[in-house]
Amino acid sequence: MALLVQKYGGTSVGDTKRICHVADKVAAARARGDQVVVVVSAMSGETNRLIGLVGEVSAAPSQREYDQIVATGEQVTIGLLAIALQARGVSARSFLGHQVPIRTDSAHGKARIRKIETEALRVTLDEGAVAVVAGFQGVDDAGNITTLGRGGSDTTGVALAAALGADECQIYTDVDGVYTTDPRVEPRARRLSQITFEEMLELASLGSKVLQIRAVEFAGKYRVPLRVLSTFEEGPGTLITLDQESNGVEEPLISGIAFNRDEAQITLQGVPDRPGIAARVLGPIGAANIEVDMIVQNVGADGTTDFTFTVHKNDYARARALMDDICRDLGARSATGDDNIAKLSVVGVGMRSHAGIASEMFNALAAENINIRMISTSEIKISVVIEEKYVELAVRTLHRAFRLDEESAVTP
Ligand code: ADP
Ligand code: ASP
Ligand code: MG
Repeated sequence: MALLVQKYGGTSVGDTKRICHVADKVAAARARGDQVVVVVSAMSGETNRLIGLVGEVSAAPSQREYDQIVATGEQVTIGLLAIALQARGVSARSFLGHQVPIRTDSAHGKARIRKIETEALRVTLDEGAVAVVAGFQGVDDAGNITTLGRGGSDTTGVALAAALGADECQIYTDVDGVYTTDPRVEPRARRLSQITFEEMLELASLGSKVLQIRAVEFAGKYRVPLRVLSTFEEGPGTLITLDQESNGVEEPLISGIAFNRDEAQITLQGVPDRPGIAARVLGPIGAANIEVDMIVQNVGADGTTDFTFTVHKNDYARARALMDDICRDLGARSATGDDNIAKLSVVGVGMRSHAGIASEMFNALAAENINIRMISTSEIKISVVIEEKYVELAVRTLHRAFRLDEESAVTP
């Protein structure tokens, strides 16, 4: 008998027919003798609809009330799934975050889980029932409902698996595993049978939304066995492994390609080049609680420097306005910006032992006339910023250049 946490995403519970299909799958696991905690998302599109409603009422809503509203989508799906299970003769009980309780900090909209009290879930499981838990939500010390950020039900699933010491956390979704890149953009993308936490963490942080980054962090930290599977097809899915398990086959250099259309670029040109300038430029951005991702500074021959950085598109207007002020204060030549950019990254632990990946990547993009605006690298990834309109072409070009569509490129 295993203890499983199964998380089903928005598409998997997108209508009542699909919820019944999920109930069949959970009932089958019970029939095999497994104990099951199920985490569900809101029906697909529902969280966006709720966020839209908030936006119609105010451009700057109270964060407490925002969470109060956007957390409601999951309340419907836990109730429906519990009823569908009961209709199949499977005993089930639904739980909102605060009924578990899943305790978080008070950072509304991006709360972090601090502690999960497992007694109530244990009682339910010991009674032979399925616990159906609302993803994406928790409760802070003052009793306010909090949410964990978009895609946060993955994190609820992994955190519950860690707290309960589950045998596996299974993330059921609309693809049958983690692919070499988003299969919606590159139909030739291939499923990876396994991927290391380190690589998955990079892919998630660089834009692959198949798993929320915090879920991967959590799983790595608490060594939760994590698997991504399809709700609609049988198959082994993708196992996220703690270490690269060598299987005799030469490991691929590149495991995957991620992209992100959520960033915008800001450039300050002709800044007097003196110590402390970087802090003067980025200080006000940090003070305004705007996160900066990539930063490039170039020293020119004329004693000035150019400074380029990227921020989330949602923060672009605010960051751009701050840069106009800074440009004036520092006597810089100009402040410009562009929110039609995309960040494209190749990721692979094999890069550690192989030189030349960067030049292969740049050559492949050049051959398609795709201009690179910024570059950043780390031990296992190379990221470039390009014009947004080229992102799909660039993904397909690199997928081919690194032979990710070939069977041998992917660990079997
Ligand atoms: P859910 O609603 O089940 O949480 P998501 O939409 O959050 O599902 O995540 C699944 C989607 O992630 C897929 O439909 C796919 O388009 C996208 N995706 C992006 N990158 C990848 C990747 N490398 N492998 C698989 N899917 C990916
Ligand atoms: N319903 C939430 C969202 O759409 C959480 C999730 O689906 O993981 O972001
Ligand atoms: Mg998701």
